[in-house]
Order: sequence, then C-alpha cells, then structure tokens
Amino acid sequence: MTDKSFFIDTTKCTACRGCQVACKQWNMNPATKTKQRGTHQNPEDLSFETFKLVRFSELEDNGKPVWYFFADQCRHCIEPPCMYTAQALGVNAINRDDKTGAVLYNPKVKVKEADAQTIRGSCPWDIPRWDKKTGGLAKCTMCIDRITNGILPACVKTCPTGAMNFGDRNAMLNLANKRLKEAKKIHPKAQLLNAESVRVIFLVIDDPKKYHKFAQASDPEKITRTAAMRKIIRPALKLSRLVG
Ligand code: SF4
Ligand code: SF4
Repeated sequence: MTDKSFFIDTTKCTACRGCQVACKQWNMNPATKTKQRGTHQNPEDLSFETFKLVRFSELEDNGKPVWYFFADQCRHCIEPPCMYTAQALGVNAINRDDKTGAVLYNPKVKVKEADAQTIRGSCPWDIPRWDKKTGGLAKCTMCIDRITNGILPACVKTCPTGAMNFGDRNAMLNLANKRLKEAKKIHPKAQLLNAESVRVIFLVIDDPKKYHKFAQASDPEKITRTAAMRKIIRPALKLSRLVG
C-alpha cells in the first residue's frame, strides 16, 4: 500500500454534514449534546467523541451574507508534531502507520492532563482532544480499518458532492493542483493549505482565517521534527537549570 492523502475541495461543500455523521457512526462515537448558539455549526467544537466537524463561518461581504464551510479534521501530518511531542514526553499513545502515513492515537492509553495539553498545543491545527473521564486522547483515525481493507474512509464514501476525496498521495496532489488551477480563474485568492506538510489538503478560495482560526498552520516551515522537539526540550532545559 502506498502513502495516502485526502483532498478536501471546500468549493464543493454544501455543509450537509454527511461526513460528520458518517464519522460518528463508523467510529461508534455517541452524539454530542449541544445547545442553540445562533449558528448552524453543531456541535461547537471537535471533542474526544467528535473527530470530524463541519465548521460554519458566517460573514458579510458588501452587505450580503457569505458562508464558508470547513470540514475540519486531523491533517495526518507528514512530520507530526503531536507524535514527536508525545515521544519527547515519554507518552506512548501516538504512532504513524508506515504504509499509509496515518497518524494513529491509542485512546486507551492514559495521558496526564498537562501532557495532553502540551500535545494539543504542539498541533498547529488544534486537533487532538483529551477526555477527563478516561484520560485518553483521540482524533481522526483515517478510517485505518477501512482503508487497509480497500474501502474509502466513511466521510469520503458519504460525501455526495465530491468535496471529500481520498487516495494515493500523488493522485490527490494532482487532483488538488488541477482544481486549484480551475478555482483560480474565478477566485484569485484560491489556495491549497499546507499541501507539502499534510495528508489532508484543503482548497479554499479566500483568506484561510475567514474559514477557521486554525485552518492553516501559521508557519508551515516549522512543522518539522526539530521544531516539535525544540518546544519540549527548551522548557525542560530551563527547568533543569533552575533546579540544578
Ligand atoms: S494535525 Fe495535529 S493531531 Fe493531526 S497529525 Fe498533525 S499534529 Fe497530530
Ligand atoms: S459530506 Fe461533503 S458536502 Fe457534506 S459537509 Fe461533508 S464535505 Fe461538505
């Protein structure tokens, strides 16, 4: 099996939330209790039990309402800062599947709250979530049980518009670049988000911040093993100097 990637074309997303529901269903995650917050986005955020969330950004353009939809999830980073941070902390809960490139969490491993916060803080897309009750960390699994049996991830299989795509990385990069070229003809600000660093490539047509605060990593060059390790090692060195 060759390494895999998703391509998420936000220009085709209608925010039907089929992907979000399919993700819950396949992972047997319970529904999340929510309340009316004056937005169609529901639930409010990702959680230990919500790995996929269609974010609704409701804006105004020249007096007209504009909606940006963003089917958020783990980006399955090529050099995952969360995994390197966990390793530096001695937390054995995160691995990368060599064949597909999927970054996999073991939610049954108990992680201290402070360590979980550091791991979450190392993710440039603010993805992993910790559960107080079980002490586990969880996020999107790339449907590893499906894809290793030749079946598409549940979110991709469900998407009725072609917004969610999945396949070999080269094929997804080709598709993403083809769609970018087409989108640019109408939307000059169209861009792919962190395409070189992640396995979940989003196409957006405007400033990524309009979609979601963490849609794009602010400094993609820093998504490296060295950068992740530096975040952990520097505070540890400071502490050892203080107590030494
Ligand atoms: S997006 Fe965040 S949680 Fe997912 S692999 Fe990258 S650093 Fe880890
Ligand atoms: S299933 Fe497809 S169209 Fe529906 S919300 Fe998800 S990405 Fe958008």
